[in-house]
Amino acid sequence: MDAEILSVGTELLLGEISDTNAQYISSRLRDIGVNVYRRLTVGDNPKRLTSAFQESIERADIVLSTGGLGPTDDDVTAQCLATALGRGLVFSEEAWGSIESSLRRRNRVPSPSDRKQAYIIDGGFFIPNAVGTAPGQGVVIDSKLAILLPGPPFEMKPMFEDHVITLIRQKYHDLEPIKYLNLNIVGLPEAKVAEAVSDLMKSDNPSVAPYTGIGQVRLRIAARGRDENEQTAMIANMEKEVRKRLGRYIYGTNDETLEEVIGRMLSRRGLTLAVAESVTGGLVSYRVTEVPGSSKYFKMGMIAYDPGVKASNLGIPFEFINENQAVNEEVAKGMAQSIRLLAGADLGLSTTGFAGPDGGTESEPVGTVYIGLDHKQGNLVERILYPSTRSRTRSYAAQQALRVLYRFLVGLAE
Ligand code: ATP
Ligand code: MG
Repeated sequence: MDAEILSVGTELLLGEISDTNAQYISSRLRDIGVNVYRRLTVGDNPKRLTSAFQESIERADIVLSTGGLGPTDDDVTAQCLATALGRGLVFSEEAWGSIESSLRRRNRVPSPSDRKQAYIIDGGFFIPNAVGTAPGQGVVIDSKLAILLPGPPFEMKPMFEDHVITLIRQKYHDLEPIKYLNLNIVGLPEAKVAEAVSDLMKSDNPSVAPYTGIGQVRLRIAARGRDENEQTAMIANMEKEVRKRLGRYIYGTNDETLEEVIGRMLSRRGLTLAVAESVTGGLVSYRVTEVPGSSKYFKMGMIAYDPGVKASNLGIPFEFINENQAVNEEVAKGMAQSIRLLAGADLGLSTTGFAGPDGGTESEPVGTVYIGLDHKQGNLVERILYPSTRSRTRSYAAQQALRVLYRFLVGLAE
């Protein structure tokens, strides 16, 4: 079964917005076993859109469009599909009822232009929109299916999830959905991860593939099939094999973040954390406090950017601040210890480094970051080097700081 996705909107062609709808629909169709062979972007131009529909319907089993369903004159998607199919648009009382009640919920009086959205393709059906006004619609053309959804992602997604998936599954019975498991890895670069599982990556079903993020790798195990139990077993076997080789580096699965896992470890051990940040400018504290319930273990965060502030607020001796540079092992160590004591926390974590583009020294070039960790049983400092754009270096440094903390917690007896 194959599909084409048509993204409608001149603003997409002008580069004013990114086509996140097509990305979302692609990934969800893949999950349910539909192949996406083409994606097209067309402006709000009736002629081009009509011919795009004609061609896509000719080629694919399922054609899915987003955008251009609103009440204004440049919203022409439904009309274009109708023309492409040689059909008319008919007023749907059912669609109008749903539009009216949705407008009333927003305290808006329905206007004549709103009625336009209640016209659906002759022989088609409407798809309710629970969060906005523009309903979607669909039409079955023999063995084929065309679906039109509105552009705003927060409206499109629930309609896709609640209606479109069911429609596709009801119509096409031989789909082979994909089940998958992501294993999230820190502390090992992508090349090493790939090396460790290179033989497994040759497997077709289940498949194994690495995806790189900043300072982490995601290993995705995907199993295609019609028998869910069989898929689950295939994934579990592969997971066991991967864990045998990389278990030490796998901190979590699927959407689990490093900060969530750290949060659980801190809670379980009854430990508290304080963070003193220079180069990461609050990114570490931000990530730690993104986790609900982090107030139980996060005591304080300080952004000590200026070397003088590091000296006066965190007691870093001036002798470690050379020529106004505070990027070295002693500073990282001192920052971690001082913030721990200042906050009365069990653990202190610190970052200091050069994110660039200017600055750095001969021995400590741009991209150098020191990460300090202090605990009453001792301390450690790690130096990393990641010259990149300022933003990527900072994100990487924050990720590595969390990785250092994570590894320390893994090593601590419960
Ligand atoms: P509305 O009733 O809101 O006008 P519509 O179906 O007519 O719905 P459009 O007018 O085409 O949708 O787009 C509305 C908005 O939805 C756009 O301004 C944009 O913010 C968002 N949008 C549209 N298409 C996409 C897309 N492919 N990816 C992400 N966002 C999109
Ligand atoms: Mg619109």
